[in-house]
Amino acid sequence: MALAQRPPPGVWRRLSQWREDRKLRLLDISANLWHEALGDWSVYRRYSESERNWLRETALRLLLRKHLVGVGGVEISDVMRLRIAGMAAVPVLGLGLEWYDGWQTLILYDGPFVADHSWQDEFGIVHQETSARSGEAWQRGPVVLSLQDVLAAGRHQGYNVVIHELAHTLDMRSASANGAPPLHADMDAAAWKCDLSAAWNDLAHRAELGQRLPIDSYALEDPAEFFAVLSETFFESPRSLQSAWPAVYGHLVAFYRQNPLELT
Ligand SMILES: [Zn+2]
Repeated sequence: MALAQRPPPGVWRRLSQWREDRKLRLLDISANLWHEALGDWSVYRRYSESERNWLRETALRLLLRKHLVGVGGVEISDVMRLRIAGMAAVPVLGLGLEWYDGWQTLILYDGPFVADHSWQDEFGIVHQETSARSGEAWQRGPVVLSLQDVLAAGRHQGYNVVIHELAHTLDMRSASANGAPPLHADMDAAAWKCDLSAAWNDLAHRAELGQRLPIDSYALEDPAEFFAVLSETFFESPRSLQSAWPAVYGHLVAFYRQNPLELT
């Protein structure tokens, strides 16, 4: 009998949505606090008033759904919480917050953190690697960020560790981090691959010649980093990306379902 009384599928989802809506109405964030958190960020300023409302709502829903945890003595202030959530909201404004459903926790470290990783080469030999990082993202979470890098995000040409790490989580929605997120049905996967490969080759060539690069050379680490760096440049410095590789810029407009250059 208990089973027969179980609510039909979808009811729990509607219930949790109702709870979230209720909590959202109770949150009273002043305009001043929002301004302190995001007012100096050029990406935020680019949006219209109604888009900023949507961004702020998405950021608050993200804070209701995820855990933001400071470790190593990091205290996360309200302003920092809103700034991180606001930056994290940008990549999913056109996609929907459910694109972040795969992870639950965002950890904030004080300073670059040291990560130990082991990996296996083609001969089966396991290598141990220790490196200082500004952030990292795992397939089922957590997303890890260094506070110093979060403070530097959005302040100079193209750099944004929050968008970078969250782009990795979008990429990982299709199996693993390989630079190929799940594309929408109306997108041409072959053209995506061809145009991103051409841009990769062009970047490698320009780096070899010691030329000024349109995106951070860290993108050449592997295809996953290429997509993450392209994503942060797309939002932070869209004009330089569009003029270097217009086709790649067009694919990112189609994927993120927003065009930063049309907002300016
Ligand atoms: Zn990365």
